[in-house]
Amino acid sequence: MDACLAVEREVDKVSSKFVSLRDHTENTVDELSSSIESIRNELNEVPGDRELTPAQSLILSQSIRRVKDAVSRMSTEHKDLHGSVSKVGKAVDRNFVTDFSSVIIDNAFEGDWKQRILDEVICEHFLRQGMLDIAEALNEEAMLNIDGTSKEPFLELHRILNGLKQKNLEPALRWAEQNRNGLIEINSSIEFKLHRLQFIDLIRQGPERQLEALMYTRNFAPFATHHAKELQVLMGSLLYLRQGIHISPYAYLLDPIYWDEICDVFTRDACALMGMSVESPLSISIRAGCVALPPLLKIKQVMQQRQVSGVWSSKDELPVEIDLGEEYRYHSIFACPILRQQSNDINPPMRLICGHVISKDALNKLSNGTKVKCPYCPMEQVPVEAKMIYF
Ligand SMILES: [Zn+2]
Repeated sequence: MDACLAVEREVDKVSSKFVSLRDHTENTVDELSSSIESIRNELNEVPGDRELTPAQSLILSQSIRRVKDAVSRMSTEHKDLHGSVSKVGKAVDRNFVTDFSSVIIDNAFEGDWKQRILDEVICEHFLRQGMLDIAEALNEEAMLNIDGTSKEPFLELHRILNGLKQKNLEPALRWAEQNRNGLIEINSSIEFKLHRLQFIDLIRQGPERQLEALMYTRNFAPFATHHAKELQVLMGSLLYLRQGIHISPYAYLLDPIYWDEICDVFTRDACALMGMSVESPLSISIRAGCVALPPLLKIKQVMQQRQVSGVWSSKDELPVEIDLGEEYRYHSIFACPILRQQSNDINPPMRLICGHVISKDALNKLSNGTKVKCPYCPMEQVPVEAKMIYF
């Protein structure tokens, strides 16, 4: 934050200099052009066959000199501005770390398959963002061979989302109907919400659409049990159709926020249905990296100062735990209290019969042939009785 403020101070200096220079230049130019204008008018009054008087030619040469001086002054001031602009660049260099080499794994993206995975993740990101032409260009240039079938869900998603943004519920309703079973399985109420919005759009238009609104209520039949309360509200609003919904106790139904909400709900449910995360994995990785980088750089610096940089030798493991916050917590992890390593498929957590849990590697290290003593209670037991724990 301090770094941002320091750069901002330099930027403020430049912009205030720029504003004062612009004002000053504009004033000078206006002044000069009006004086030239008046000289021209004066000269126009002189008949063509008459020579200028000495006074007139003196005024003319003085004006020319003034213009020349002003132009050279302006160009000097303009050059001075460059100095201030370059100071901003220097402030950026001074305040932000540009060398991340100490915390980068050198061969992280080496090898064809790693590069390919990275390209695919980037391509998927563009597809998710609706930047279809960029995704297509990357697909071709990196020879990813992403075929139409894997692109189609993204294209459909964007078609429907664009419809929703233009308050066209038709494509979304068709999609929800086609995927009804899947949506019920993931407990989604998107179909009801879409019908609800369609109904609200009808009652918004007043008594002329009353019959249409009443007919539309048939679409609510499948949702009667799960959304009884909301349906009561919608039916209640019909009483105020003549008077105008916008001045009734149901005016809140017309809040445009429901249109924003439906876009979010649709994206979330459609992604869940396709088995994808709502957010692009690439943007999550980058955001997590931005959170993790500053503490890692600090640790590396401290390690170098104390000459213990060798401590962080295994680069697939972080030297400290970095808490990225709730937002980035996707599943539980188990760190062995004995070996202080995170469990994985090869080294899973094992529950001893006393209830304490340690990693499989720790269990093997602690066991003495047929016996093992729990490092916590310390109950003696047989290693084979320990049970693997699944998260
Ligand atoms: Zn125990």
